[in-house]
Amino acid sequence: MVIIMNPEATAENIKAVISTIEDAGLEAKVMDGASQRIVGVIGDKRKLGDVTFEAMDGVEKTVAISKSYKLASREFHPRSSVVDVAGVKIGGTPVVMSGPCAVESREQLFEAADIVKKAGAQFLRGGAYKPRTSPYSFQGLEEQGLKFLAEARERTGLRIVTEVTTVEAVDRVAAYADMLQVGARNMQNFGLLKAVGKAGKPVLLKRGLAATIDEWLNAAEYIMNEGNPDVVLCERGIRTYETYTRNTLDLSAVAAVKHLSHLPIIVDPSHGTGKWRMVQPMAYAAIAAGADGLMIEMHPNPAKALSDGPQSLTPEHFERVMNGVKKLSAFLREEQIAPMEI
Ligand code: PEP
Ligand code: MN
Repeated sequence: MVIIMNPEATAENIKAVISTIEDAGLEAKVMDGASQRIVGVIGDKRKLGDVTFEAMDGVEKTVAISKSYKLASREFHPRSSVVDVAGVKIGGTPVVMSGPCAVESREQLFEAADIVKKAGAQFLRGGAYKPRTSPYSFQGLEEQGLKFLAEARERTGLRIVTEVTTVEAVDRVAAYADMLQVGARNMQNFGLLKAVGKAGKPVLLKRGLAATIDEWLNAAEYIMNEGNPDVVLCERGIRTYETYTRNTLDLSAVAAVKHLSHLPIIVDPSHGTGKWRMVQPMAYAAIAAGADGLMIEMHPNPAKALSDGPQSLTPEHFERVMNGVKKLSAFLREEQIAPMEI
């Protein structure tokens, strides 16, 4: 951090700033600017506790140099992380998580699970607790849905990823799922982030509807700070002024996150666009951009889906996308043209 003094700052003001820094066990370095003096703080800023330099006499402003997130940052962990979810590795060769938006019945889920498995995906996704915009929309089968998911795992060997929406449900969801999903609406539910950080299962952290990349990585930090290093990020589109698509899929976030963080990142072109026709091109673009995987909604019969039918692929379309994704990622690997992590 650097502290920029204002041009009228007195020698006493600067001395007070230096003492505050040194009293916290840190080093202060004073630099002369053209009209202002600048005080650099060297060392771990956390030692400063609640000191507010802006409130001290003669201080113009402070500028942070290092990131507020540490555990999630590539600065402190230069090598890309690989997250192991019950034996399936996320980070590197892309993985695919697919299934219906919501678990609707045993039959629907089993049918979807068989299609997901046959097409070569590694994870079955399906919501048992659904964060719906309207309280009158289908809210999910809750624990019964979790039981169906666990049965589908027995049947197919697919790993299970499902959303947890409340702190109270964390242990229940963790008892059935291989990976806990924190949805976009809960990305800054700090109590929930801390609870999933203690649950002992890898976490899929979706980007908030209006979250900056910095806020998203700080949300990952909350989980990691509880002792859980197994966090995978998921770009799922953000709110912009565009109304044609449900959200604006920010594929540049993949490149940004790869630079800023060592955590794996996957892309959800289903919620990112809201339109099934756009899922295939955006899935290919995500893989080309270096994503570590995809989350794709697929329903045995999208016209009958209880949620997110318009963005759900049919089984036939899903199979086509899977084939394309496999070919594209093999091509990128063989030709060594995958994006560099710089
Ligand atoms: C979902 O994955 O079904 C979901 C609700 O996604 P999001 O939190 O990104 O809206
Ligand atoms: Mn959905």
